[in-house]
Amino acid sequence: MKILFLAAEASPFVKVGGLGDVAGSLPRALALLGHDVRTVIPGYGAIDWQRFRPRRRERFDVAHAGGFEPAQLWETTSDGPPVYLVTGPPIPMDHRIYGGSIEEDGPKFIFFSLAALEACRALDFRPDVVHANDWHTGPAVYRVALHRSSDGFFRDSATVFTIHNLPYTGLGAGRFLAEYGLPPSPVLGLLPEGARDALLGLGLATADLLTTVSPTYAREIQTPEGGYGFDGVLRARSDRLHGVLNGIDTQSWNPATDDVLFQPFDQTSLELRQANKTALQENTGLQLDPHAFLLGVVSRLDGQKGFDIALPVLPRWIETGGQFVALGSGDPGIEHGLASLELGFPGRASVRLQFDPPHSRRIYGGADAILIPSRYEPCGLTQMIAMRYGGVPIARRTGGLADTITDVGDPGGNGILFDGYDSGSLAHALDRARRVYAQREEWIELQRRGMGRDFGWDRSATQYEALYREAVGYVRNGAGV
Ligand code: ADP
Repeated sequence: MKILFLAAEASPFVKVGGLGDVAGSLPRALALLGHDVRTVIPGYGAIDWQRFRPRRRERFDVAHAGGFEPAQLWETTSDGPPVYLVTGPPIPMDHRIYGGSIEEDGPKFIFFSLAALEACRALDFRPDVVHANDWHTGPAVYRVALHRSSDGFFRDSATVFTIHNLPYTGLGAGRFLAEYGLPPSPVLGLLPEGARDALLGLGLATADLLTTVSPTYAREIQTPEGGYGFDGVLRARSDRLHGVLNGIDTQSWNPATDDVLFQPFDQTSLELRQANKTALQENTGLQLDPHAFLLGVVSRLDGQKGFDIALPVLPRWIETGGQFVALGSGDPGIEHGLASLELGFPGRASVRLQFDPPHSRRIYGGADAILIPSRYEPCGLTQMIAMRYGGVPIARRTGGLADTITDVGDPGGNGILFDGYDSGSLAHALDRARRVYAQREEWIELQRRGMGRDFGWDRSATQYEALYREAVGYVRNGAGV
């Protein structure tokens, strides 16, 4: 199949969060199954153009406000299928990726979405499937649906829209959509009235098939609590909504070959991992104590990630002998809360408020456990990476965390789960973790089982392949949107 894969970020070119990981690795896994996959991302200035040396392939125009905006298409790759970068006036050439307002991001991502479709025409690449991801690419899905009967080029293209994080919607883009020739249409009547100009809504209402990144999240977003106003449309379209777990790039995330680690190791040489804990303690200024239970965090610092329930219990964790290491950036209030821990507990808490992939690897490979207390978590990659690196996840039972972690109390346990979204439930989970940690053999079993799980992309890529066929079937049988 010919697959056009659209995302606002793709590792290693540009990555802010899990979406970047997915867009970096899923196309590669699909290409290995024999598909012709082309990934298109915005050609931000933040990308290291020197390193990836994209070459210019095409120039074309995107219709805008009665005139045109010039777009350019650049081709590069990183150990996989082709990746195209789109540049043009709304795509920032400084270090910015996501802006703070719809005034900036609306035109940016509508232009990007439409330019990606125009790029197909310029390349004469007629996709069987347009796989669009998150709100930034909703306009591409809508454009195909709006013009299916009039635009022969995309007439047989099915659209698949994947929800990576529902509450991010790109609301308030109506004016920009109109300028780019995407006016409201009756098919958007499925959406709540106040959300018909949300770029996410365009995808939810008009994709031939919807997916999200875990089976549990697929159920949660159909409830008023998890649906952020979109549960109605998702319930109405539940026969077209599927949950497919993300994988991780097991080549890049491999503790046996990771040269950032002080001491590479694998499942059969788990005892070597201790050297990474010592190195982590050393380079974060923590006391060199092999027995202290070192709890780690690698996270965007966002309301979603559960720091409001974690911050109140962390002082007690440290006072009762635990150590704590965190890496993350984002919300200033959460940054402040974490930074105060380091100030309050020198030598027992270390906090780095930045985006630092090598340091994240040292935490995954050296901390005893990784804390993920998310309020909601569509899939989550940190728990999978942690398990692969022998870090035991302590996580809230929600979304993809529930689908990938088995509690220590259940057969095949590989982590510690808690249910309630409150500090008491989290504190109880930490106490349970501490008890298991004290039983060395039991803890090592948890680590081994986590490391033994297959988090590669193969299974998920095969599921996407089947869903692509299903979507193509709808369009060819006249049951497309
Ligand atoms: P989300 O997409 O909501 O941020 P995920 O768990 O799906 O959460 O993916 C997070 C990804 O970003 C993981 O690869 C994680 O290691 C990485 N990450 C998060 N924060 C940082 C940071 N401060 N430095 C380096 N990597 C980070």
